[in-house]
Order: sequence, then structure tokens, then C-alpha cells
Amino acid sequence: MLNNETINKIAAGEVIIRPVSVVKELVENAIDAGADQITVIVEAGGKNRITVRDNGCGIAYNEIPLAFKRHATSKLSTIEDLEEIESLGFRGEALSSVAAVAKVQITTRFENEEIGSQALFEGGALIHQRVCAYNRGTEITVKDLFYNTPARRKHLEKDKKEEAILRDQLEKIAISRPEIRFQLSSNGRMVLETPGTGKVIDVVKKLFGSEMADNLITLNYENKPMKLEGFVGNLKTMRTHREDQMFFINGRFVKNNRLSKALDEAFDGYSMKHQHPLGIVFIELPGRMLDVNIHPAKTEIKILNESLVCLLFKQGIRETLRNASLIVELGTAH
Ligand code: ADP
Ligand code: MG
Repeated sequence: MLNNETINKIAAGEVIIRPVSVVKELVENAIDAGADQITVIVEAGGKNRITVRDNGCGIAYNEIPLAFKRHATSKLSTIEDLEEIESLGFRGEALSSVAAVAKVQITTRFENEEIGSQALFEGGALIHQRVCAYNRGTEITVKDLFYNTPARRKHLEKDKKEEAILRDQLEKIAISRPEIRFQLSSNGRMVLETPGTGKVIDVVKKLFGSEMADNLITLNYENKPMKLEGFVGNLKTMRTHREDQMFFINGRFVKNNRLSKALDEAFDGYSMKHQHPLGIVFIELPGRMLDVNIHPAKTEIKILNESLVCLLFKQGIRETLRNASLIVELGTAH
């Protein structure tokens, strides 16, 4: 029979694949905790150390062991809840999974408590817990990722590559949360910083430069049950790849080829062959049209009735392009 430690390691394997998985889960927890400042510090592409610090609500002393226990904290009480999830986390398996495959130190102070607490977990086990002074918020440091699952550790990319992957992920989260100030420091160097003004365009400017930000067409479209916000690039920013097409459904970054294709098609007649428009598109859909539960890492959201959604999406983009004041410029593509 499998013991608990082994079960946790296996479960961890689905959620925690590489440093970026840790960053994503910890940052999402910080967002769920209501933080408006989130600092990420990594060393060796996150392999040796990942720290995520937030100024959110914190965790009460007594809740810490529970928070690191699998499913003990799942926010779902009934299966219907899945349809109306507001928080990013809902499985209650991120912290337990991280702790199963690394050495994790948490320092936190719950907003309603006078004193903070600190705890250390190794390979899933609570090593010690004590009270300590701490400001409001939470800091979690994950050291020596996969130290007890060497096969996984061996499969990681070079530090630079792991850093690039997690930076890319953090960019997407930062774009979807313009009201939060994000910082990422890697080996002591600040590599990403967003202003926290609440405006997506300010984040885009900071991350990708004003050249890109100055060539965007604003989306503001509603065709029930779908709403579109965000930006698409004008013809000056056409790409030969699709890396600058980002879709967020109800606030979550998603990968979806059919949406990418629909975005490309919306530019038919404006763009040239093999050109891909830039897009940072926020799509709002009712929860009942989505299934966010198909993948533990939650990057794949299944859209129920995807064809209809893609059609509405394409219509929305086309209508926006038609109305854009840049229409003259757009029309001169051929
Ligand atoms: P989930 O997010 O799915 O509930 P996690 O394992 O990611 O599960 O986190 C477990 C619980 O620990 C959360 O539900 C939350 O109550 C608490 N928690 C985790 N990180 C933080 C944080 N940074 N600030 C406050 N509470 C946190
Ligand atoms: Mg979580």
C-alpha cells in the first residue's frame, strides 16, 4: 500500500512540474489573500530558491498545518460550487504539493492576530512551528525544489530557461491584475516590475515598452453572454509568431488555439498571410459556459460551446477594427 508521503509526492507531480508551477501557485494564493503587493525572488531559475512575499490577509497560527494538508482547505463544499468559483485556488493541494517536494518555510501574520508565526516543512512533514514578530502578510520560501525526487530535478531546464518560463508566467498574471504591484528579482537583479495603477496599459508599457503600448486598439465589446476588453495591435505590430497573443477568460490566462485562430481570422483582409496580430484580450463568460477543472495547473480551461464563443469573439474583434479610428491605416495593408 502507498503511504501518505508517497501519495503526496504523486499528487505533487501533477501540480508541481517545474519552478514556474510553484511561482504560479504561490502568487495565486497571494492574490486570493487580497494582496496588492507581491514580490517574487528566485535563485538559479527557482531551482534553489523561490520566495513569494505578499501583503495579504495572512494565515492564523492554528491554520498553518491545515493549509499544508491536501484538500483540507479546499474552498469547494459542494460540486455546484465549481461553476461559480471566484478565487483562483480551489483544490487545496498547492501548498501540500509544494511542501511534498521541497523545503518550505512560511512566515505569516493573520490580519486578526497580534503576533506572527513561522513554520518549516520538509518533504511534506512539519518540522517546527513557532510564534514570531511579523508584519501583516505572508512570505513563503521554497528551497531545493525536487530534492527528494531527483528524477524530476534532473528534468529541469537550465537556470536561464527556467527563469524565462517563470517570468513569462508572471507577466501574464501581472497583466491580468493591473491593480497589484508585482516585482520579480532573479539572482539579485530586478527583472520585472509593474506599477499597480490598476490600468492594463500601464502594465503593458512597463513590460513591453511604449512602442508596443502606443500601437494598440482598445477593445470594449459586449455581445451577450460574452464581453471583451483589452487590446489588439494595429498593423504596425503584426508578428510572425503567436507569442504575443494572450487570452484571459474570467481573469485567468488560458492557452487556446481556436481563439488564436479566430483572432488571426478577424484580421483577414487587413493583415498579410502568415502575420499574427498582437492581442491582450480579456474575455468574460458566465461560469456555466466553462470547465476550469480539467487540468490541475488550470492553464487549460474548457469552453463549452467553443464554436459559438469563437464566432462571437471574432465578430467582436472585427467590429472593433471597423470602428477603430485607425481604420484608414489598417486598410492600407494591401
Ligand atoms: P487553495 O488555494 O486551493 O485553497 P492551497 O494549497 O494553494 O489551496 O492553499 C491552502 C490555503 O492556505 C488557502 O486556501 C488559504 O486559506 C491559505 N493560504 C495559502 N497561501 C496564502 C497566502 N499567501 N495568504 C493567505 N492565505 C494563504
Ligand atoms: Mg492555491
